[in-house]
Amino acid sequence: MVRSLVLMLSLLQGYSAILSAQNAISPDVPEAGSVEAIAAATGDKHFLSPWVSYLPKSATVPSPLGFLGRIAGAPGELMDSAKAYAYCRALASHSPRVRVFTIGRSEEGREILMLAIADEAGIRELDRLKAATGALADPRRTDPAAADRLIQTARPIYYFNAVLHADETGSTEAMLEMAYRLAVSEQPMIRRIREQLVVLINPVSNPDGRDKMVEWFYRYLKGKTDRATLPRQSPPYWSKYTFVDINRDTHQQTHETTKAVHRMFHEWHPTVVHDLHEGEPMLMTWNGTGPYNPNIDPITYTEFLELSFHEVQTLTAMGMPGVSTWNFGEAFAHLYLDSVAMNHNSVGRGYETWGNGSAETMRREVPPSDATMEWYRPLPPPSGEVLWSARDNLNYQETAALAALDLSATNAKSMLHNFYKKGWDSWQKGLNEAPYAFLIPDRQGDPTRVAQMVGRLLAQYIEVSRAGGDLKLKDGDYPAGTYVVRLDQPYRNYAVDLLTPQRYPKDGSEPYDDVSWELPAHYRLEAIPTADASVRTAALTPLTEEPHPAGAVAGAGPVFLVKDTGQEGLLAARYQLAKFGIEIAEHEFSASGNNFPAGSWILPGQDGLEKAVWKTASDLGLDFVSVTTVPDVPRHKALAARIGLWVPWADTDSIGWVRYSLDQRNVPYTYLRDEDIRAGGLRDRIDVLLYGHVDLELAEQIQGLPKAWGPMPFKATPETPSFGKPAESDDITGGIGWEGLAQIQHFVEDGGLLVTLGSGSMLPLEGGMVRGVRRSSGGVPRSTQGGGADAAAAAQQAATRTPGAHVRVSFDRLDSPIAYGYPARTHVFRQNFPLYDIPRHWLRMAYCTTCLDGPEDRTNVIMEWGDRDGPPFVVSGQAWGEGRLIGRPAILDMPVGRGHVVTFNFNPIHRDLNRGDQRLVWNTIINWQAILAAKTGVSAAQGH
Ligand SMILES: [Zn+2]
Repeated sequence: MVRSLVLMLSLLQGYSAILSAQNAISPDVPEAGSVEAIAAATGDKHFLSPWVSYLPKSATVPSPLGFLGRIAGAPGELMDSAKAYAYCRALASHSPRVRVFTIGRSEEGREILMLAIADEAGIRELDRLKAATGALADPRRTDPAAADRLIQTARPIYYFNAVLHADETGSTEAMLEMAYRLAVSEQPMIRRIREQLVVLINPVSNPDGRDKMVEWFYRYLKGKTDRATLPRQSPPYWSKYTFVDINRDTHQQTHETTKAVHRMFHEWHPTVVHDLHEGEPMLMTWNGTGPYNPNIDPITYTEFLELSFHEVQTLTAMGMPGVSTWNFGEAFAHLYLDSVAMNHNSVGRGYETWGNGSAETMRREVPPSDATMEWYRPLPPPSGEVLWSARDNLNYQETAALAALDLSATNAKSMLHNFYKKGWDSWQKGLNEAPYAFLIPDRQGDPTRVAQMVGRLLAQYIEVSRAGGDLKLKDGDYPAGTYVVRLDQPYRNYAVDLLTPQRYPKDGSEPYDDVSWELPAHYRLEAIPTADASVRTAALTPLTEEPHPAGAVAGAGPVFLVKDTGQEGLLAARYQLAKFGIEIAEHEFSASGNNFPAGSWILPGQDGLEKAVWKTASDLGLDFVSVTTVPDVPRHKALAARIGLWVPWADTDSIGWVRYSLDQRNVPYTYLRDEDIRAGGLRDRIDVLLYGHVDLELAEQIQGLPKAWGPMPFKATPETPSFGKPAESDDITGGIGWEGLAQIQHFVEDGGLLVTLGSGSMLPLEGGMVRGVRRSSGGVPRSTQGGGADAAAAAQQAATRTPGAHVRVSFDRLDSPIAYGYPARTHVFRQNFPLYDIPRHWLRMAYCTTCLDGPEDRTNVIMEWGDRDGPPFVVSGQAWGEGRLIGRPAILDMPVGRGHVVTFNFNPIHRDLNRGDQRLVWNTIINWQAILAAKTGVSAAQGH
């Protein structure tokens, strides 16, 4: 029975392959040598489809083989962005079916190029086709009858992002070969795709990273095929700031790569945005296991399932093993590059194919868990060892992408109807059900931060207005100037998603990334829903750009005061006023009839101060009040600290966001590489050493990349011109080592302030720099988060997890400068980090020299997890096992020698999102002298 079934299956596969092959070969004539070269580069005949087994011959358009002198996906070769773009331009100049567009420039100045492919008529009419999808995107100006008429002559636009993640190297060549095929093949399927769709291809989504990676491949990886002995497969940087997180930027749009795709999206309104990643054997077409985000139109879930199953079915029928769907990530968080489509009524989707992280052919092992027959993986990959090549990877990517285009061409009209219907549904919800709008008061302590949050909404094409007069609604009164997000708009669903708390189900599967992205929680602001539909008839002025609140200066000095109302801009202000003396009040005081809380600034009269204050007020939207004499209140000096930021070569990703945040605020800092830490003399150079979150265990934080790979220079040379940015090295291996750790300890003992964020706090707490704090069981390090194996997931089930959630905290030391501008009870954003115990004194008993069993000492606990007054722990997102977390330290300030170590058990600078948490770090930096002056607590008593 089993035998005959297998036989029948193989006969059927053979039969469909023969049918497809016949279809493929006629009427195209294969380019000479292409069939043999493709077959030779393919590891196993099952890893090839008839569609991509040859290059169609063209008399006029240069093929990849003609242009490169080799097939795409040839072993041992990769093309950089310049070569890729040269080929794009060659296609466009020789084919009336191809055009190129520049859609952006990278941080390092490289072009970001996009191809558009359609039949001749489609290319001639791109402007009309763009206008049509633009009109379908807004049901307020296109009624259903007009939409029906438009759809008759409109086309779905299908867009691809290749090689966003630079070490996932295959998709550039897959997309360029597909572009050629789409331009010249006369297969009926390809002609139908050309006639029914516009295909857009961004062949190098992140050209800075691509060029570094290509040089890295030729410098370090070429010719190496043994995975067991490969050196590090990726350069330490892909973009100016981040690494993998370049694909976690959709809500905030900080990277030029993201901005380019978002601009493209709102110009073209593609029906599908498709990301090409490489991480799973052999091709996983995403749609997520659930839970599903309730703010995405349900039509979208049916559309991406249909596309995915069509790909699985098509490649399976061709006999290509290992094509699966569903079993990867959830569909709750839409914060990736393709998510611009999900969040704006289109379909966002993607692949994980099996990349070698190299252009070389390698023996790869399919894990047994990936080799079982499942409903979502009907033809599993062969278990065990497989010879896998770059061309195999390309074959899967291109074949599946063609299948997706084929289905989209077949379903063109229904896809456009669905796109229109989703905008309609979103708009109608805002018209017909509460809430009808969100009200965002402009005076919430920090008007600039309010304006910045409004700016983020506007950048997503969410319409925001401003109340011209007082708003009297049945559920509240709001003054003139209040921002209003009316929900009768096509992107209503995304506005609701961004402005309300996320509720990830407690019994939901393991989340892949953050479970909260609520902007009011990130910004620590209020956005208040209203159930009063009359808000639509109020006098509102639509905003066309991010507002910039003007600061004010009252009076002419000579002494100036700034009332601390939680302004995030105080760090930028401290450095804009770097040459002026600033003192900070340690208690509340009153002056000229106003109350000033602790943390308020006092600027004694100084030459040139008045002029500088005016500039800072206007640039940063801060209010200064002038008085004649310095108020009589306990205060401390706050010299502008010399900041050093340590960026370990082993992980530059999360600290990239710290660099981004400082750069945006024009705050100067010294970039410290591992070798700079090792060189010592830190206290002479800096006052504050900032060490951000890293996805590294303690040993890797200290020892860095294995020395066995070294030396690995990352420097600009004639062979590697892209290296050395944003920092260079003669050898990125070896970390800081024990000598570097000793230098950090010297720095602190010599009176420096070490500030550590997230898992960076392992270094002082578990490395023994501060004593008296133990890691407790039950937490998980951030590095085990997301997409892990079943065993890791099972271990996490039992652990305390806050995988990117907003959770409540309480200040233990409201008198600490770190608390300035915050209420006693608030919330912060937390991912998965280790749990630490409250500091304890040693019990100096001879029976046990390691027992840390003396009494607890809360003196150095600045903030703890949970709200002792009892509201629910989770503000937005979800938490598991939080009972073990509540009451443990969230921020510690521990004296060591003449210095201090301030450790955060969360990352207050997460992807430029949690702007409301950043002031905690800014407070630590601004008040570094006051923190160093405090000499209490466990470490001080024990160590010295
Ligand atoms: Zn990726």
